[in-house]
Amino acid sequence: MLVDSHCHLDFPDFADDLAGIVARAEASGVGRIVTISTRVRKLPDLLAIAERFPNVYCSVGTHPHHADEEDGITTDELVKLAQHPKVVAFGEAGLDYFYEMGSRPAQERGFRAHIAAARQTGLPLVIHTREADADCGKILEDEMGKGAFRAVLHCYTGGRDLAMQAIDLGLMISFTGILTFKKSQALRDLAAELPADRIMVETDSPYLAPGKYRGKRNEPSYVVETAKVMAEVRGVSLDEIARQTTENFFRLFGKVPAPAAA
Ligand SMILES: [Zn+2]
Ligand SMILES: [Zn+2]
Repeated sequence: MLVDSHCHLDFPDFADDLAGIVARAEASGVGRIVTISTRVRKLPDLLAIAERFPNVYCSVGTHPHHADEEDGITTDELVKLAQHPKVVAFGEAGLDYFYEMGSRPAQERGFRAHIAAARQTGLPLVIHTREADADCGKILEDEMGKGAFRAVLHCYTGGRDLAMQAIDLGLMISFTGILTFKKSQALRDLAAELPADRIMVETDSPYLAPGKYRGKRNEPSYVVETAKVMAEVRGVSLDEIARQTTENFFRLFGKVPAPAAA
């Protein structure tokens, strides 16, 4: 079994084909899907999807792109919204200095509020970090000093230093179809090097279709393409990568029920 730990099923790209997408994922061995929140105020849309499909769960949070729009979201609000049985994580929150659509101070405020919610509840935080390695590392160190929390650096494209810093702080690192792109050798080297108990896979669909489907709409069933490359670079079987990344997922996303042992 594989897990797509990060996608966006509420995006319009999927609207006309949601049941087909979930069915194809299940047929491809993707046993759990987490659809990730980008705006707290859109949570009802995510919940409608998560409630419709037994194997789909969701998060709640504000993407750094929307940090100004949802500046002032409090930790208490996040914690309260996460009481819903289908809400299993916070985020995605963090820092995006590549697009910088949200102002940096608002991104940081949002990031820290989400970390506090993760700390308070024990639920994981899904962290988005792009072109912000130094500041992300600084905030993680600072916040971890205030009390432990659980998190994953999703769609990892940062440098080795931030990855190793995150590993030292107990975080997971998750990879998308970017791992399959020709130009991504440095990322593959990193994926080969990380400890086996810290790696996860995801699609971040509808974006980032893996090499084989480049230019098309991505979807959760394609997570296997990232897992295949991960297996190749680590010199293990696809079965082993599926087992390991799925085990890691259930350890981090403790609120998602694991299937009974097969
Ligand atoms: Zn992201
Ligand atoms: Zn995302």
